[in-house]
Amino acid sequence: MLILGPTEDLEEEQEENAQARPNEKDLGIIGLGPAGLTAALYASRSGVSVVQVGLDYGGQMGLAMEIENYPGYEMISGIELADKMKAQAEKFGTKIVFGEVSTIDILENGRFHIKSDMGDFVVKALILATGGRHRELGVPGEKEFVGRGMSYCATCDAAFFKNKTVIVAGSGDAAATGTLALSDVGAKRIYWISRSDYLKCEKIYIERAKNRDNITILYNKQITEIKGTNTIEEVVFNDGNSLKVDGVFAEIGSIPNVELAQALGVELEEGLIKIDDECRTNVTGIFAAGDVTSKINNPLMRQITTSTGLGTVAALSAIEYLQGLKIKG
Ligand SMILES: Cc1cc2nc3c(=O)[nH]c(=O)nc-3n(C[C@H](O)[C@H](O)[C@H](O)COP(=O)(O)OP(=O)(O)OC[C@H]3O[C@@H](n4cnc5c(N)ncnc54)[C@H](O)[C@@H]3O)c2cc1C
Repeated sequence: MLILGPTEDLEEEQEENAQARPNEKDLGIIGLGPAGLTAALYASRSGVSVVQVGLDYGGQMGLAMEIENYPGYEMISGIELADKMKAQAEKFGTKIVFGEVSTIDILENGRFHIKSDMGDFVVKALILATGGRHRELGVPGEKEFVGRGMSYCATCDAAFFKNKTVIVAGSGDAAATGTLALSDVGAKRIYWISRSDYLKCEKIYIERAKNRDNITILYNKQITEIKGTNTIEEVVFNDGNSLKVDGVFAEIGSIPNVELAQALGVELEEGLIKIDDECRTNVTGIFAAGDVTSKINNPLMRQITTSTGLGTVAALSAIEYLQGLKIKG
């Protein structure tokens, strides 16, 4: 066994620590959607050191093919807008990491240890901007045909359905823009179905859909089963009727990504992260922004502009909190 003298001992310990010590930053932001990217811009521009970890680049915004309601751009794709937001945050020093955060631990000194598949980070404050993920129909056949006609993103997969017959289930903006995207790529027929007797999306989309020859809107229809052999061939509805189709797009909203928050002891309200007017959660040093928060519990208001707004508020609150920590020493 090698016996080390005091200096060698210390050097080895320091080396081990350096290897084990994760990156340290002032602020950790989870999420690469518009809320997180805006928070990163504000925080890094104010001189706070920021690490931002996210799995899907641009978040849900990255799935939007054409955005017409983000001020300053008549039309821009979600990915292009995300590129611009990312570049702006990076310009001020934000370190962006593409990875999944598995856990976040609160350390004894009140700091947060973020563990991700792309490395660990220790931060003094945290902004959770984890948004949402697609909701499933929960009907027989759905899981079986994922990637074989079953999709959750019409704007992403529309191009594969040229000259095909498809169903878009859902009545919100994502369903509307998905239906129009399928019409644009030349799907033979798109049945846009709503489970109630109305559509929840913006009126402008309904007018556009009604003017397209290849779109049929059906109300009070709910899918109860998806059938096929190798790919989807037929869909059965709650009224017993069925339709021969090649694809099904479920655009029925999102499930908030609150698992990390819950594990940290962050309080929820109606399944969303509960925040006050300054985007503070019940846990000291943890802030939240965007679609995942209780401030936007009306699905219609889950928008890029509302998310960027909350990203701003969360960053300003986090900056204030970090300044308070400095004063306390
Ligand atoms: C198809 C589609 C079209 C849309 N079109 C428009 C439009 O035209 N105009 C408009 O205003 N809005 C539109 N929206 C809504 C808009 O995109 C959302 O409101 C907005 O993206 C929400 O932003 P967010 O930052 O709160 O969350 P999200 O965009 O959902 O981002 C969440 C981020 O958190 C990350 N994340 C979550 N959990 C983890 C984890 N454990 N580890 C690492 N990362 C994690 C995700 O990877 C993602 O990067 C559209 C949405 C969809 C789905």
